[in-house]
Amino acid sequence: MRLQGKNMIVTGGASGIGLATVKRCLQEGAKVVIADMAHSEGAARAAALNAAMGPCRFIACDVTATAQVDALLADTVAQWGSVDIVFNNAGIGGSGPAQDVTDADYLRIIDINLNGVFRVARAALRQMYRQGAGSLINCASILGTLGQSGTVAYSAAKGGVVNMTRTLAIEAAPRGVRVNSVGPGYIDTPLLKNLPPEQRQALIALHPIGRLGRDEEVANAVLFLGSDEASFVTGAYLLVDGGYAAGKS
Ligand code: NDP
Repeated sequence: MRLQGKNMIVTGGASGIGLATVKRCLQEGAKVVIADMAHSEGAARAAALNAAMGPCRFIACDVTATAQVDALLADTVAQWGSVDIVFNNAGIGGSGPAQDVTDADYLRIIDINLNGVFRVARAALRQMYRQGAGSLINCASILGTLGQSGTVAYSAAKGGVVNMTRTLAIEAAPRGVRVNSVGPGYIDTPLLKNLPPEQRQALIALHPIGRLGRDEEVANAVLFLGSDEASFVTGAYLLVDGGYAAGKS
């Protein structure tokens, strides 16, 4: 049990990579809060996992709302006494060619995928500094360091997440807290559900391993970074991308 005794929060935990991480970390003995939008499947999924696997709760939290993010941390501490691991994962896709992107679309993606990561990181670090320990993992993407046509807001946000992680890691290290990011390649989750088949094939071809990733493969990387096995790992950007970036550098 690699996470025995650890209390964890996963934002965007009702679906995809977040949900796979919730399950994987429950398997390893963590108590896990699924934090996601109020309208999500999070409440039902947490109840089912709580019955089948181990302590799991749902807390409704929109990462664009500072008060909800701060309440998420406070509520978890009130229930379980500490927050040892936070997976800062909530995010949305989208964009389109830059010339067609509206202010509203651009700002929404930045507000969830970049500002949301900051709000959660700030609340998590405040609590982890009080504890003198913790592990924060931010969800970036291969588009955190590589460009791709049609992703202007998304790639701007993810690039911000990669470099925000490095700065937070430097600030947090003397206080006993580690901060890392993961960089998934294309992972077969609901985020990709609307892709036409030919676009899906084109994406597969970009991964030397010859397939899209599975959500549990990202979950395993988060598990490692959250665990004490990663005790000397901070400021890292851990690619989980089937060789996508290796083929581009
Ligand atoms: P999913 O859409 O399956 O899951 C994301 C979850 O985040 C959903 O439950 C979503 O709710 C929730 N969410 C959206 N907005 C907010 C918000 N404002 N506050 C709280 N929760 C919110 O996506 P993935 O699992 O694929 O993506 C998870 C992370 O992985 C994202 O950060 C994404 O950018 C990143 N990623 C994904 C890749 C992929 O190929 N799938 C590749 C690289 C990175 P709702 O359904 O209501 O929107």
